[in-house]
Amino acid sequence: MKLLTSLKIMLGAAPQRPASYTPEALAMQEAKRQVKGPERARQIREAHAEKHSNKWRNIRWATLITVNMIFVLSFGFDVQLVEGSLTASRVIGFHFADLNSAIQVMLAYKVILINLVIGTGTVLFLWWLLGGRTFCSWTCPYHLLAEIAEKVHLALAKRKMVVDYPLHRGSRSVLYVVFALLAVVSGYTVFESISPTGIVSRALIYGPGLAMVWVLGLLAYEIIFIRRMWCRYICPIGLTYGFVGAVSPLRVTYNMENCLNEGDCRKVCLVPHVLECTKKTYAEDVNVAIGADCTRCGLCIDACPTGSLKFEVKGLNKLL
Ligand code: SF4
Ligand code: SF4
Repeated sequence: MKLLTSLKIMLGAAPQRPASYTPEALAMQEAKRQVKGPERARQIREAHAEKHSNKWRNIRWATLITVNMIFVLSFGFDVQLVEGSLTASRVIGFHFADLNSAIQVMLAYKVILINLVIGTGTVLFLWWLLGGRTFCSWTCPYHLLAEIAEKVHLALAKRKMVVDYPLHRGSRSVLYVVFALLAVVSGYTVFESISPTGIVSRALIYGPGLAMVWVLGLLAYEIIFIRRMWCRYICPIGLTYGFVGAVSPLRVTYNMENCLNEGDCRKVCLVPHVLECTKKTYAEDVNVAIGADCTRCGLCIDACPTGSLKFEVKGLNKLL
């Protein structure tokens, strides 16, 4: 997917059918058109015969819990190898600062703090290497809580007890500007005081405070009204890391050859607009890199019954 298109979709634009296709993609589309009716149903049935694995989800949850436990244990045992929380920390003397928090602090105080610049640079390089929004799904403690809340929402929705009321995805871009302006005008990092990422991270390390009531309220709202509301429609952290990940070497790629277009991947994805290429005639080429908003969570890779989605490092052979 072209960089500009990928960024526009991340900011809220609706994905479009490609204007043109490569000859290879056209030939493959034609071959797929011949498979229809009972034959297509049989292929889908066979593909679903095996139970899908949770391999990447399990690896990711273990990583997320380990990263957060390092902060908790380091503070608890006063090891001082890792100090601070996910939003700002010192690891063996190196400063780390969450990109979005750093931007908010600099906008609010209107100064460029050298430690913050060093910390931001280190984090920028790290998350560029690891895929940008990898921060969301592989380290953010709120992401894990929201994933569990999403399972509850889906279970209740199946029983018709709740309904998802989706918002416009562009709301996140608008709120990004609103939070930046609030920091400039108020001289206070307004977003930081309501960000569940920082609140949960600090609650784990230093013990829960009143702010956790807000986090629990958010989770309850996501269960009852809007599936994954915070991560999908509000959080500016995701957008900041999305920009970083747009040019990252680590990405998810799609190969249309064996794809059945039945959409299992899109059902499990936090940002299904990046998987639009898995719909019939939406992939401009046989291989397509998934867009910037992808959190590299691996859920679609686990869910895909035909192995059509993979992690890849750009320029290197397939990872797995
Ligand atoms: S495209 Fe796949 S890896 Fe990316 S966010 Fe969606 S489910 Fe996760
Ligand atoms: S890529 Fe998506 S639509 Fe295609 S086979 Fe895999 S899960 Fe189904």
